[in-house]
This record gives sequence, C-alpha cells and structure tokens, in this order.
Amino acid sequence: MYQLIDGKELSKRIKEELKIEADKLKEKGIIPKLAVILVGDDSASKVYVRNKSKACNEVGVEFEEILLNSNTSMEKLLSIIDELNNRKDINGILLQSPIPKGLNIQEAFERIKWEKDVDGFNPINVGRLMIGQDTFISCTPYGIIKMLEACDIEIQGKNAVIIGRSNIVGKPLMQCLLNKNATVTICHSKTKNIKEITRTADILISAVGKINIVTADMVKDGAVVIDVGMNKNDKGKLVGDVDFEKVKEKASYITPVPGGVGPMTIAMLMNNVIKATKLQNNIIN
Ligand code: NAP
Repeated sequence: MYQLIDGKELSKRIKEELKIEADKLKEKGIIPKLAVILVGDDSASKVYVRNKSKACNEVGVEFEEILLNSNTSMEKLLSIIDELNNRKDINGILLQSPIPKGLNIQEAFERIKWEKDVDGFNPINVGRLMIGQDTFISCTPYGIIKMLEACDIEIQGKNAVIIGRSNIVGKPLMQCLLNKNATVTICHSKTKNIKEITRTADILISAVGKINIVTADMVKDGAVVIDVGMNKNDKGKLVGDVDFEKVKEKASYITPVPGGVGPMTIAMLMNNVIKATKLQNNIIN
C-alpha cells in the first residue's frame, strides 16, 4: 500500500514556519524582499511568477516584479541585475526562465550576486553544493530532499536513480542525494537500457517533462517515486512524467502532480529568501 507524499500540505507547514522567521526579522526592522525579473510574455512563466508572488504574500516577504519586453538586450538585462545586486532593500533576485532566445541565461545567472541568488543557479552556489558547503541550494532539488526527510525516508546507502540531467533539477539533485550518502545514478536521453537501471532504484526521480515516461515495469516494488515533471495532457490538465495510476501500486511512497514537488519548490524559494536576508544582515540562525 503506497503513501502519498503531500507536497501541498508540507509546503504550507514550511511557509507557516518561515512566516514566524519573517516576523522576527520585521521586529528588528528588516523586511525580506524578493525581486523577480520576467523577460517576454511566456504564459506559463506568468503563472509561476504569480504563484511566487502569492507565496511571498503568505510568508511576509515583499515582492517586486520587473517586467521586460522580449526585445530586451543582454546589456539591459545585465544592467538591471547590477542595479538589483546593489540595492540594499532587495535580498533575493530571481530571473524567471525561460528567457527569449538570443539572450544568454547562464551569463545572467552568473551576474546575480551569489548572496542574492535564491534560485541557486550561480556557479558559486553550484560549486559550494558540490563540495558540501552551506549554500543556496536550487529550490526543486532542495524541496525533494525536504519531502524525503519529512516522510522519514532513509537516503543514506540507498540507490537513487534520477532521470534528467538539467542544470536546474537533475544535476543539483544528484549532488544533494550524494551529499546525503545515497548511491546516485543519473539517466538521460542517451542512456541505454534505462529500465534496467530504474529497476535498481530505491528512490526514483523523474525530471524529464514527458507524459508517462515512467511506467510500472520500470519501478521496483516498494520504491519511492518522485515526479518532477509538469506536462499538459490533451485535455489541458497538468500531469507529471509518471504513469501514476499504475506506478502507485508498486511504490511505497509517491508524489502527485499537481500537489507534489511544485509547491515544495516555491516553499524552498521562500526559505532561500529568508536565508539570504539573514546572511546579508549578519544574523546567525
Ligand atoms: P530539461 O532541461 O528539458 O531536461 C530534461 C532532461 O530529460 C534532459 O536531461 C534530457 O536528456 C532528459 N530526457 C529527455 N527525454 C528523455 C528520455 N526519453 N529518456 C531519458 N531522459 C530523457 O527539463 P527540466 O528543466 O529539468 O525540467 C524537467 C521537467 O520538470 C519539466 O516537465 C519541467 O516543467 C519540470 N519542472 C518542475 C519543477 C517543479 O517545481 N515541479 C521545477 C523545474 C522543472 P538530455 O540531457 O540527454 O537531453
């Protein structure tokens, strides 16, 4: 019998705890603030930014949205990041991806000061994660680790298999799991015999972005299955990568889509904004 990992409920609890932290900062006269840069008019990005703004409101983090049109030059984008880097009232900066073709997102991520990089995409934060130092961990991998821990799922010594090697999910998640002493395998589009590998997983995470890429025959009995994928099906409904109805019968724990990894990603963004605010104000703990 599987257990559902309720990311929505857990994220609510985390945001309530963060609100207490934000209130304590306010008593000291410090108001945490997140700036989000949105370039172009990608409709999914607008929804994500709205959700982030809503979470800021719940936690007591101020929110500033910088809307740039799709013709914005790289020079202009970098100058806006510089401005935000230098503003004392801004504690966290997030550049919503994707950005229009022709702009270099990696260069933009690198321009965000590591102390304000609440998405954890600056190479300094990526590098710190790699050598096991305290850092801003990118929000989706961090949220997945928090979910596993909240369910008392042991990571140490387990075989973890990740499908997907993106810089924002697969690779940092690989490092997070390794730092927690899992044995990690990462699969991608060029991996051969993927089923043989996924069947060894005690913890199986899919971050591909393809409906039903994870089928029941790929899953070991009793595995923990985490679905990062966010896809629209032919009815326009949000679904994950995992064939949920069949896979749940084999899993010990499984995340739903929606209501799994997505809300946790936003909760960890809020966590990182509070962390950045404390860091910039020399507040320990
Ligand atoms: P991405 O950059 O497109 O990466 C997808 C990965 O999947 C790549 O590594 C790719 O391999 C691999 N892949 C593609 N087809 C495959 C196949 N047939 N077999 C095995 N691997 C395959 O995507 P992403 O940004 O990591 O996002 C992945 C999914 O997670 C998307 O649905 C996205 O919307 C979702 N997401 C959700 C959250 C959340 O908060 N819930 C956050 C971020 C992303 P190659 O490297 O070889 O191309």
